[in-house]
Amino acid sequence: MNPTSLRPPDGDPPRPPARRSRTGIEATAKIRGEAVARRLAEGYPDSRCSLEFRSPFELLVATILSAQCTDRRVNMVTGELFRRWPTPAALAEAEGVELEAVIHSTGFFRAKARNILGCCRGLVERHGGQVPATLAELVRLPGVGRKTANVVLGVGFGRAEGVVVDTHVGRICRRLDLTRHSDAVRAERDLVRVVPADHWITFSHRLIDHGRAICRARRPRCTECLLADLCPRRGLPAENTPPERQDS
Ligand code: SF4
Repeated sequence: MNPTSLRPPDGDPPRPPARRSRTGIEATAKIRGEAVARRLAEGYPDSRCSLEFRSPFELLVATILSAQCTDRRVNMVTGELFRRWPTPAALAEAEGVELEAVIHSTGFFRAKARNILGCCRGLVERHGGQVPATLAELVRLPGVGRKTANVVLGVGFGRAEGVVVDTHVGRICRRLDLTRHSDAVRAERDLVRVVPADHWITFSHRLIDHGRAICRARRPRCTECLLADLCPRRGLPAENTPPERQDS
């Protein structure tokens, strides 16, 4: 084709720029995802899970308790919890009201107590009192979704089967345009495509630390951010938008 035939004849309005293909958008997100993961690793080399635990069982229960609650608050109740019920078998036999009283301060205590009891019964009945080390088995336990399963696999067993997506990780990754989904399962599906697998376990811990320090829910501190040159700041108001994007 003659390239000049693509140009509008003189006097015609300019044609809109060609839409980028889906493959092109995914390739850009992958390049950004790799750069973000590397940069976070340099900036937050010591990030780790802040839940306290001594075994995959304790980590599993602590992660169930951490829904809608800070890790600090969870750590304040797990000492007493595991002193009273140190094994899945012991916890499976706990009285619901007693358990609710111990975990009360973590919020949603009735639902959490129900989930913990159901989960421990599942561990005893189906897994000989051991925490299984596969995603498929973990998500079949009551109260265990992909997020909890990924925490247990990554932090408890060192197995990278996915990326943990909580509200903070989701929020920052949408700003970084690594995903556009609010739904955690869909967001994770995007992230495992663009974040290198050897970063999957630590990626979330680093993002959570970054969210606390810089990329806060309200008033993110973009001018101090180590990801500033990589981040399109999607969804943020104009004052956060990088100057080179304000006209686009
Ligand atoms: S540049 Fe702003 S929006 Fe992007 S990651 Fe940093 S603080 Fe968050």
